[in-house]
Amino acid sequence: MVTTRADAEALDESSPLAGFRSRFRIPDDGLVYLNGNSLGRLPLATVDRLRRVVEEEWARGLVRSWATWIDDTTRVGDLLGTNLLGARPGETLMADATTVNLFKLLWAAAADRPGALVVERDEFPSDRFVAEAVATHLGRALVHLPAGGLDAVDVPVAVVARSVVDWRTGAIADVQSGTAAAQARGALALWDCSHAVGSVPLDLRGAGVDLAAGCSYKHLCGGPGAPAWLWVREDLQPALRQPVWGWWAQRGQFATGPAYDPVDGIGAWASGTPPVLALAVAEEGIRLVAEAGIEDIRARSQLLSGLARDLHDQLLADLGCAWASPPERERVGGHVAVRHPHAAAVVLALRARGVVPDFRAPDLVRIGLHALTTRFVDVWDGLAATAEVLRTKAYEAHLEVATRVT
Ligand SMILES: *Cc1c(COP(=O)(O)O)cnc(C)c1O
Repeated sequence: MVTTRADAEALDESSPLAGFRSRFRIPDDGLVYLNGNSLGRLPLATVDRLRRVVEEEWARGLVRSWATWIDDTTRVGDLLGTNLLGARPGETLMADATTVNLFKLLWAAAADRPGALVVERDEFPSDRFVAEAVATHLGRALVHLPAGGLDAVDVPVAVVARSVVDWRTGAIADVQSGTAAAQARGALALWDCSHAVGSVPLDLRGAGVDLAAGCSYKHLCGGPGAPAWLWVREDLQPALRQPVWGWWAQRGQFATGPAYDPVDGIGAWASGTPPVLALAVAEEGIRLVAEAGIEDIRARSQLLSGLARDLHDQLLADLGCAWASPPERERVGGHVAVRHPHAAAVVLALRARGVVPDFRAPDLVRIGLHALTTRFVDVWDGLAATAEVLRTKAYEAHLEVATRVT
């Protein structure tokens, strides 16, 4: 039990993963960064790698370097898939943005079988928008997952798309039972792993999942705008066809044949030239997370969220806050959220004090707990600062600006 700041410091010293913080470039050690779930910090290895790719492979090698770059999307995809997704080699492709990958996967799923597209009402905006777009283009219904679950949907269902970790509260879904429920309706199960990958253990094959996608700039520390990934279970690959036909999926890519004839396997999900520099950067983040090991990451992450919960109850509950995440740390991923009616102004006041959480409309202070870079004292200092901002009403000075960002 942590009751003093010294207790938090002691945890930082004894934690098995504490040494990993020194593997990141952290120019301002005093900054309380509680946003590693949104943009992970910069690994030191990334700085060297980027310099090498730019100076040697691009500047010197020029177009000849494509010989080393050509398989990066599947090579890095396999590094990610086999270490962190529970995938087999040949099932994971680094490509595009998560939004675009969701479009490709939803389209392929809906083109494969009749029925509606199902998403959660409160799902991340892109996921909802893309599902709406695919439903509109293909003339299908878009259905919001009812509170009672899929049983309450009384039309045929083609695909159910959900998130493993809720983007606002950090709540972890039951992937196995959600997948089974979709498949019992004859639908494909698509999981968005954006906030989960690199933070909670994933076993896509073990859970029977059909399709998945996610980011690499969040817990994977792949850098701003890092390429996303998509995963298609091996046995489904021959049957499904993605909608963005491009030369990067073409059999004999440089033979420029007269008609689209995609390669077999996960490469068929590529469209255009991959972002080689960004991929190199993403690879270093993935490598570092894989080296730390997802089980140790998960263990530390639960200690961090447990501390946040305890401190919320001790310091914030009497100051108008409510815990918005699941109460049990076993059900929370790599971030938590606290509800307050003036959350936007509170976040602005915190940022002015060197504490950087996130605001999520309408009333959430979202607190990212990155297992490799967030210290226990960061949680202590961040929640203590939140209590201070509320007790002194320092947030009131930010109310007017807050109305403009909400
Ligand atoms: C972060 C996130 C995205 C981001 O998609 P981009 O295409 O990378 O902007 C999509 N979905 C979910 C659930 C996310 O958490």
